[in-house]
Amino acid sequence: MTRVFNFSAGPAALPEPVLRQAAEEMLDWHGSGMSVMEMSHRGKEFIAIASEAEALLRQLLVVPANYKVLFMQGGAIAENAIVPMNLLRGRTGIDFIDTGEWSKKSIKEAKKYAKVNVAASGADTGYTAIPARETWQLDPGAAYVHICSNETIGGVQYHFTPDVGTVPLVADMSSDILSRPVDLSKFGLVYAGAQKNIGPAGLTIVIVREDLLGQPHPMLPSAFDYKTVAENESMYNTPPTYAIYIAGLVFRWLEQQGGLAAMETHNRAKAALLYDFLATTGFYEAPVAKDCRSWMNVPFKLKDEGLDAAFLKGAEAAGMVQLKGHRSVGGMRASIYNAMPLEGVRTLVAYMKDFEARHG
Ligand SMILES: *Cc1c(COP(=O)(O)O)cnc(C)c1O
Repeated sequence: MTRVFNFSAGPAALPEPVLRQAAEEMLDWHGSGMSVMEMSHRGKEFIAIASEAEALLRQLLVVPANYKVLFMQGGAIAENAIVPMNLLRGRTGIDFIDTGEWSKKSIKEAKKYAKVNVAASGADTGYTAIPARETWQLDPGAAYVHICSNETIGGVQYHFTPDVGTVPLVADMSSDILSRPVDLSKFGLVYAGAQKNIGPAGLTIVIVREDLLGQPHPMLPSAFDYKTVAENESMYNTPPTYAIYIAGLVFRWLEQQGGLAAMETHNRAKAALLYDFLATTGFYEAPVAKDCRSWMNVPFKLKDEGLDAAFLKGAEAAGMVQLKGHRSVGGMRASIYNAMPLEGVRTLVAYMKDFEARHG
């Protein structure tokens, strides 16, 4: 068996010990005689798996007691509709900070339900920076302020939590949840698809302050009503059981690594290795402003695009896959989520140096 260094933006690499444990438990979970995939979601075994996953997640993220943790489906793109349908609560407007592709998708969807105010946009910098907080034109009557904490495609990330006063702050954290400690009490709601930094696709995590629940849009499907989902402990309908089980194993693994403070150190070190190298060469370029660079998704370009195909081919031959940048921006992108070991980034940087020496 040979495992590659997988730099995919998502679905992405998972910690190897988690995959090994899942393999061991595949046919018979803890003497139950069943795979987790075959269990009733209402049986005592699965209830134990789901409640342990929630408890571990609460512990890792230090989720305040007045917040609900919901295990849902539909991904972050579905949340682009589900969030406004739950959180407008009689108001008409939403403030958005537009920092790139994923912000734009959220804005487009929210426009079906609300008056959208783009309070600040990174468009004039080509989405290479987060607009400074002082420039945001917020509406004090907005239902909430929406940000994308890490733009997976453009590679810009917030390295601060914006103060937006009493209006709830909502964040799409799909690609950086659990990558570092975060003060959730500063947010009204955060959501994340699992397939970047948590586990298998199919699970969406929503963490929401309780007082924001209970005035849904009348057309909101019940399965997407946060209050209904919360009251039924994420079992109003059948949840993505196997994905929750794997997420639980990942949470346990994160705890064993030393929790989110240790993850921050690990992720900073990996990102620094790559960005520090990029700063030393004119052969490659990193487009994003220094203070907004993502620790999770590192976009870079070869100055000579004509070498892109050779770069990717050589990387693959050396056991590194999925380095091609998103089709909308081109170039390369190395996604280096929690599960990417330092060794993977070292191998990449060594390959980049070698490629430059041969083609520069
Ligand atoms: C991947 C991603 C999405 C889309 O998630 P789906 O699970 O495909 O709906 C949305 N926002 C961000 C920031 C992402 O990284």
